[in-house]
Amino acid sequence: MAEIGFIGVGNMGRPMAINLVRAGHAVVAYDPFPAALEEAESGGCRVAASAAEAAKGRDAVVTMLPSGAEVSDVYGNAVLGAARAGTLLIDCSTIDVATARDVGAAAAKAGLAMVDAPVSGGVRGAAAGTLTFMVGGAAAAVARAEPILVAMGKTVVHAGPSGNGQAAKICNNMILGASMIVVAEAFALGDRLGLDRQKLFDIAAKSSGQCWSLTVNCPVPGPVPGSPANHDYRPGFTAAMMLKDLRLAQQAANATGAATPIGAEAAALYALFCNAGNSGLDFSGIFRMVSGEGG
Ligand code: NAD
Repeated sequence: MAEIGFIGVGNMGRPMAINLVRAGHAVVAYDPFPAALEEAESGGCRVAASAAEAAKGRDAVVTMLPSGAEVSDVYGNAVLGAARAGTLLIDCSTIDVATARDVGAAAAKAGLAMVDAPVSGGVRGAAAGTLTFMVGGAAAAVARAEPILVAMGKTVVHAGPSGNGQAAKICNNMILGASMIVVAEAFALGDRLGLDRQKLFDIAAKSSGQCWSLTVNCPVPGPVPGSPANHDYRPGFTAAMMLKDLRLAQQAANATGAATPIGAEAAALYALFCNAGNSGLDFSGIFRMVSGEGG
C-alpha cells in the first residue's frame, strides 16, 4: 500500500482521499481551509501543516484544486520542490490544457512522472468511488497511477500524452452543457405545444434524442425521480462548474482555432444564468431560464 499526499480536500478531494484510506493507503492531507482538513482527518487521513509537507517523501501526490492558477502555484511552490525521486504526481483538478502541459513539463524537468487525471461523476461519484478518470501522460506513468485511481473510481481511460486528460474532460463537458440546454429547450417547446412532459420523456428516451441530460439529469421535474429538478435543482453539478468548464473549452478552441459556435453559445447562456444569481443551482436549472419559468 502506498503513502499518498493529498492536496485540496474540498467537496471532491475529501471523499476521494477517504476512499484511498478505505483501500488501505496511508493518506497525508493538506488544505488551507481548516474545516475541510478536519473532515479529512475524521475520515482517517493524517494532516499536514503545508502542501510541501503533504508532498514530502511520498510514493504519490494527488492534487484536487479549483483551477489552473492553484495547480501552478502548488506545484511550483511546494510539490516539485518537496517530492522525492520516484514520487508519482497525479493532478485530478479540472484545469486548462495549456497549464496542464506546462506543469507536466516542469515535473518532467524535475525528473518526476506526472499525469493529468480529471474526473467525471461529481460529488456523488467521488463519495461512491465510481468516478471516471480521463488520464493524460506517458503510458508508464498512467500504469503506475491506475492502482491509485481505481481506489477512487470505476473507470480509467488513458487519453494520450500530457494534457489529453484535460482535453477529453472539456470536450465531454462541452457536449454535456450544450445537450442540457437543448433538452431544456425541447421541454419548453413541448409545453407550448401541449405535449405532456412524461410523454415527451418516454418517447425521446427511446428515440434518437436520447442522452444523459435527458435520461439521468432530466431538467424538468417528474420523469427521473433522482434528478435535481425534483429537488429544487440542488446540485449535482453546479451551473458555476459548468460555466467554468465551458470557458475552458472556449479557451482551448481559441488557442487551437477550432470552430465551436454551439459551445460558445452554451458558455454565453450559462454566464447569463449564473449572473442572474443561479451559480449554486444544478446546471439543469437552466430549464427555468430557457422556459421563462424564472431563474
Ligand atoms: P472545492 O472548492 O470544494 O475544493 C477545492 C479545495 O482546494 C478547497 O477545499 C480549497 O480550500 C482547496 N485549495 C484552494 N487553494 C489551495 C491551495 N493553494 N493549496 C491547497 N488547497 C487549496 O472544489 P471541488 O468541487 O472539490 O472541485 C475540485 C476540482 O474538481 C475542480 O477543479 C473542479 O472543476 C473539479 N470537479 C468538480 C466536480 C464537482 O461536481 N464538484 C466534478 C468534476 C470535477
